[in-house]
Amino acid sequence: MKVRNPRTGKYDYVLHVDTIENINQKAENARAHQLDWQKSGVEFRTQQLMQFAEQLESRKEAIFEQLSIDTGRRKISRIEIEAVIGLIKGRCFTAQKHMQTSEERPSFNLQSVRIRQQLIPYPLVGAISPWNFPLLLACIDAIPALLAGSAVLLKPSEVTPRFIDIIEQAIESLPELNKVFKLIRGAAEAGKQVVNCTDVVCFTGSVATGRAIAVRCAERFIPAFLELGGKDPAIVLADADLEITTDAILLSGAGATGQACQSLERIYVAEEIHDDFVDLLLKKINPLEFNNDYDKGGQLGPLIFDKQAMKIQEQIQDAKDKGATVLSGGKIENLGGGLWMKPTVIVDVTHDMTIMTEETFGPVIPVMKFTSELDAIKMANDTDYGLSASVFSSNNDKAIQLAQEIDAGGISINDASLTNKVFDAEKNAFKLSGLYGSRMGAEGFTRFFRKKALLIQTEKPGTIHSQSE
Ligand code: NAD
Repeated sequence: MKVRNPRTGKYDYVLHVDTIENINQKAENARAHQLDWQKSGVEFRTQQLMQFAEQLESRKEAIFEQLSIDTGRRKISRIEIEAVIGLIKGRCFTAQKHMQTSEERPSFNLQSVRIRQQLIPYPLVGAISPWNFPLLLACIDAIPALLAGSAVLLKPSEVTPRFIDIIEQAIESLPELNKVFKLIRGAAEAGKQVVNCTDVVCFTGSVATGRAIAVRCAERFIPAFLELGGKDPAIVLADADLEITTDAILLSGAGATGQACQSLERIYVAEEIHDDFVDLLLKKINPLEFNNDYDKGGQLGPLIFDKQAMKIQEQIQDAKDKGATVLSGGKIENLGGGLWMKPTVIVDVTHDMTIMTEETFGPVIPVMKFTSELDAIKMANDTDYGLSASVFSSNNDKAIQLAQEIDAGGISINDASLTNKVFDAEKNAFKLSGLYGSRMGAEGFTRFFRKKALLIQTEKPGTIHSQSE
């Protein structure tokens, strides 16, 4: 498969795609070693994963080189590598604690029976990840699954695959880990085969693909842990600190060129501060520059995926056709073959426009007025998605009260996209944004276990006569 470079638009890399037979072979090999890995104990697995973190650390520059070509961004690539190393260490630090089961105990309702609880990992986990944070989202489920004692087949996105070789080298340097952790290269067909040959699937990506995977997993009678798209709202109350609020909304909405699932994509602002809010936002956007030439600096990176760029343009056109006003940006620019877009503030928007209902995944910040808090909540919840949201107010209690009314799994208060930085708070994706179990916090680890109960009778079992009338 030819792979596009997001800064030049050139197809300058070839991904050697795994065949179905290859994938089956890797699955079989990983399965064959999984029980030994499970029996090796959490302490051993923790040591292995800590060594994996060291291997990544020693290959940081090589990973950076590839990841920054994959995504067209340098600073974020460095942050992403550090985040992955931090994630591995954090999971290693807590795995033992989260595996502790209660002591053997008598049953409450049948005192003669003693209960021993066990945690049995799913043998083979399939992880399938998207292109927007390619390394972090590839590792985020694979690491806790490995620590739990599962083997893992990991298929990163075909849009951003250059970093895979280096990660594979790091895995191969650790023979025991290498037996149970296999990378798969390819696109939808490879992903489908991962779903076909594993025992649980962790999928991060679009709702459409998530739905197809959920259907296939239902047919196979295996769980699908889905982390999908979002259309995150922010509510800005009249008493919000506008300086802080505009900073946070700009970073969330246009940082990483808006290519994050938890980017703010709908802003509802109290009528009395709406104009000041928009003015300040535009004032902060005006001096921002593309970093199409690294030497000249600039805060704004390219759009990674050309197909996504077309969707963004369509949504903006739809909004304009229906009466919206674009106050900044608004068009995709081709600079040296890469696709670039300035943060785009749009007003006069309504929920009849796709820009307010469908995921945009670009640096677009539509702003709408509200007159009552009730209205703000109603509009924030008028969506098929429920990933995350933000509330801004100088009255924390008030903000918390509103946050509780929003149908989403993670709500940042007086900040935005905190779910991107905080890995230890459990949260579910609501509505179409996902399914089953929190990926973050303790449950992001414990969901890889099935619970087994050993029920030990300490007295004589009952007989058929105990049921005589
Ligand atoms: P996508 O659904 O197109 O692809 C994601 C992955 O699935 C890729 O690896 C792809 O090769 C694979 N795939 C495609 N079709 C498949 C199939 N039929 N069976 C199995 N695998 C298949 O998504 P994308 O464009 O790569 O990523 C963008 C989406 O990801 C956005 O919707 C974004 O919101 C979402 N996302 C969600 C989170 C989250 O945590 N909720 C995080 C990041 C991105």
